[in-house]
Amino acid sequence: MAARMLDGKSLAAQIRAAVKREVESLSQRGIRPGLAVILAGEDPASRVYVRNKVRACEETGVRSQLFELPGNVSEEALIDRVLALNDDEEVHGILVQLPLPKRIDSQKVLAAVSPAKDVDAFHALNLGALLEGHPRLLPCTPAGVMRLVDSAGVPLAGSHAVVIGRSNIVGKPLALLLLQRDATVTICHSKSRDLQSLARSADILVAAVGRPKLIGASMVKPGACVIDVGVNRLSDGSLCGDVDFGPVSEVAGWITPVPGGVGPMTIAMLLENCLRAAGATK
Ligand code: NAP
Repeated sequence: MAARMLDGKSLAAQIRAAVKREVESLSQRGIRPGLAVILAGEDPASRVYVRNKVRACEETGVRSQLFELPGNVSEEALIDRVLALNDDEEVHGILVQLPLPKRIDSQKVLAAVSPAKDVDAFHALNLGALLEGHPRLLPCTPAGVMRLVDSAGVPLAGSHAVVIGRSNIVGKPLALLLLQRDATVTICHSKSRDLQSLARSADILVAAVGRPKLIGASMVKPGACVIDVGVNRLSDGSLCGDVDFGPVSEVAGWITPVPGGVGPMTIAMLLENCLRAAGATK
């Protein structure tokens, strides 16, 4: 069986078009959504991610400001920048691109972002609201995964969802979102025993690990929905996910490609969060 493709690229394009319309309608109320992005250091992957986010803002009419800080920036200077942006009325969303240089305590910096402007939803208050079941801003990658799954009509209630990876930005919040939709959720990590059979018991299998082709066809239940969050750069420069796409697509019912699956959805959800932070009602 050949899996149906969950096309994040085309769904994200539809969402961006809707964001653009909403930006136009906000402008009639005198509001222009604004995103400030802070990039500290020279990490090449971060530069690419930031460039894509800024480009998506330009395309949809969201005003973006990029603050590039040197790799040796002090924690204090970084936090001062965040605090100034918290007070800037033209800035509705603040994004601190991770990873920050190693010397800097990322948690401290993220805690300085005003929860109302926290468009990545990494602040403890926003994560707490998610845990309680009434979030205002959702973490972008998990929200994007849910939209992709919903777009395909994959049934969630009562299904077994297995999330591999327990980071605060992907695995844990995604597990909560799946739980809120009445899936039975298993979270796996590097110490999980018998990943193979845990994965194979999943109706919805999410790989958010960062290991190329970790998930092979023998780890997938026939007909399962397989979501590949991983982005790995191979030695030949090409990108691949955590899922061995070719063989797994012969077994799965639905599958996301890398690139063109979860990645574009993450940016689309960031734009929606900017609208929400700017006061859009939808
Ligand atoms: P992370 O913080 O490094 O977390 C990786 C998780 O994978 C950890 O929980 C780790 O377990 C687990 N893990 C590592 N090796 C494993 C193994 N052999 N078996 C089972 N679990 C294992 O990574 P992240 O930030 O969540 O990102 C994960 C991947 O998604 C990366 O490739 C990243 O580039 C990608 N990503 C993509 C997007 C997008 O928009 N497409 C957004 C964010 C991240 P322990 O907790 O036990 O260490």
